[in-house]
Amino acid sequence: MEKTGCAVVGGGPAGMMLGLLLARAGVRVTVLEKHADFLRDFRGDTVHPSTIRLIDELGLGQEFRRLPQSRLKNVVLPVPGGAPVTMGDFDALPPPYNYVAMMPQWDFLNFLAAAAAEEPGFTLLLSHTATGLVRNGGRVRGVRFRTPDGTPDELLADLVVATDGRHSALRTAAGLAPKEFPVPFDTWWFRLPRHPSEKGEVAGLVPAFGPGEALVALFRNDYYQMGYLAPKSADARIRAEGVEGFRRRIAALRPDLADRVDAIRSLDDLHWLDVRLNRLHSWHINGLLCIGDAAHAMSPAGGVGINLAIQDAVAAANYLAPALLRGRVTTADLKKVERRRMLPTAIVQTAQRLMQRAIFGPIMAGKRTRVPAAALFMARRVPAVRTIVPRFIAFGPRPEHAPAFARRAEPRPQPQP
Ligand SMILES: Cc1cc2nc3c(=O)[nH]c(=O)nc-3n(C[C@H](O)[C@H](O)[C@H](O)COP(=O)(O)OP(=O)(O)OC[C@H]3O[C@@H](n4cnc5c(N)ncnc54)[C@H](O)[C@@H]3O)c2cc1C
Repeated sequence: MEKTGCAVVGGGPAGMMLGLLLARAGVRVTVLEKHADFLRDFRGDTVHPSTIRLIDELGLGQEFRRLPQSRLKNVVLPVPGGAPVTMGDFDALPPPYNYVAMMPQWDFLNFLAAAAAEEPGFTLLLSHTATGLVRNGGRVRGVRFRTPDGTPDELLADLVVATDGRHSALRTAAGLAPKEFPVPFDTWWFRLPRHPSEKGEVAGLVPAFGPGEALVALFRNDYYQMGYLAPKSADARIRAEGVEGFRRRIAALRPDLADRVDAIRSLDDLHWLDVRLNRLHSWHINGLLCIGDAAHAMSPAGGVGINLAIQDAVAAANYLAPALLRGRVTTADLKKVERRRMLPTAIVQTAQRLMQRAIFGPIMAGKRTRVPAAALFMARRVPAVRTIVPRFIAFGPRPEHAPAFARRAEPRPQPQP
């Protein structure tokens, strides 16, 4: 039976960032990830300015900018029969943090894993599935897991952090249950090709609305990542209408993309996301902390899930590294992390719930097929809205900065021969 300083369960954005930061502090940290790699399609792929700034503070900015990515510069609302209205203009923010980087999550996670692998105290165990908690004397002392060949084993740790996502097994094992907030829609993700003439590094996000449905197109390097939003009960309807019916719906919502809906070969090309909005009342028990989606699943509105998960990881590293280096993490230490991150989480979730009530709820109920006139008026007439909205999406409330122990200088550019 092995022993580590911090056992992090789940190699998503929260787990990999926490692993990197703690390892840079000199803590022995082991990340267990149940998959054999990070190759999973249709995950959160938006890296917001708060995260890009953090990456710069970690001295990894040059490398990050070399990864394939497109830049989301604005959010534009369609106006039937009129010119579209820019609701959020990231370009209005001070450079260089004036865009959302769109990149496949697996590239981002591989990038974090490579940086963490340079730290001697960091271990990543792929194909290791956590199955439960090791408890002793009223405290969590480690995790139970299955090795790649299915052998059960245990890893003891001074602290276990659950970063195992929205269906967190460790959260359940700890007896923690999140409060669920109603969400009026689910999302079906799929791809459509981008024609060469449409390519470009800079792009905007334009939603389209119909009765009881909406469609967002995220620009990627050589394809559009499409998100079809419909009421939670719609999966049966989509299956009954078949692929032809689905293609017709997409073509009606985005006539400009009708020429390529045949790229949806079958309904198997759709990836259904059961959208959740929830939050734990308490993020910890003695010896275990939940962060990221394990503590709070976010709605896709604003694409903030990854970034909040990363901010949680930064706060956790900041507060817990000293205690982990001492080898003694108290419940009061864990409470500090929860207190730091609960408020920004609640603020963002409240904003998402307001958006649901004002925009998505009525659209999903078939009562409206356009953005409320008040929102369009604000976007057109109140210049501050153009900067406040993107600032809120870009940095969120209480953005975190890299702890001093994790900061590194960027490598100097090599002189050209
Ligand atoms: C289809 C989809 C689209 C999304 N789009 C966006 C978006 O555009 N922008 C955005 O910001 N957010 C988006 N999100 C949400 C975003 O992906 C999450 O908020 C974010 O990834 C949360 O990070 P996390 O590290 O907390 O959890 P996760 O990313 O869920 O990572 C959890 C990790 O734990 C692993 N794991 C689970 N159980 C175990 C176990 N028992 N043992 C070991 N490992 C385990 C999983 O394999 C996974 O790698 C989307 C989510 C989905 C599903």
